Amino acid sequence: MKRHYDFLIVGAGIFGAVFAREATDAGRSCLVIDRRPHIAGNIYSETVEGIEVHRYGAHIFHTSNSTISPSI
Ligand SMILES: Cc1cc2nc3c(=O)[nH]c(=O)nc-3n(C[C@H](O)[C@H](O)[C@H](O)COP(=O)(O)OP(=O)(O)OC[C@H]3O[C@@H](n4cnc5c(N)ncnc54)[C@H](O)[C@@H]3O)c2cc1C
Repeated sequence: MKRHYDFLIVGAGIFGAVFAREATDAGRSCLVIDRRPHIAGNIYSETVEGIEVHRYGAHIFHTSNSTISPSI
C-alpha cells in the first residue's frame, strides 16, 4: 500500500529532526531517512562501558536558554 508524505527529509540530524517536529506539529506528514543506522547525525553519542562517547567528535551545546541547560 502506498502512503503519501508531505515531506521526504534526507538526514536525521538535528536539522532534519527539528524540521520534522515543526512540520508534524503544523499538521504535515514527514518521512525521515538516513544512511546511518541511527538518528542524531553528527551529534550522536552512545554509552560504551559506562562512558558517553561522541562518535563523530565532542559536542557541547552552548546556549543561554535555562530550560535547555538548567546549570546556566
Ligand atoms: C567534530 C565536530 C564537533 C562539533 N561540535 C559542536 C559543538 O560542540 N556544539 C555545536 O553546537 N555544534 C558542534 N558541531 C556542529 C554540529 O555537529 C552541526 O552543526 C550539526 O550536527 C548539524 O546538524 P545537521 O542536521 O545539519 O547535519 P548532520 O548532523 O551532519 O546530519 C546530517 C545527516 O544526514 C545524513 N545524510 C547525509 N547525506 C545523506 C544521504 N545522501 N542519504 C541519507 N542520509 C544522508 C547523514 O548521515 C547525517 O546523519 C560539531 C561538528 C563536528 C563535526
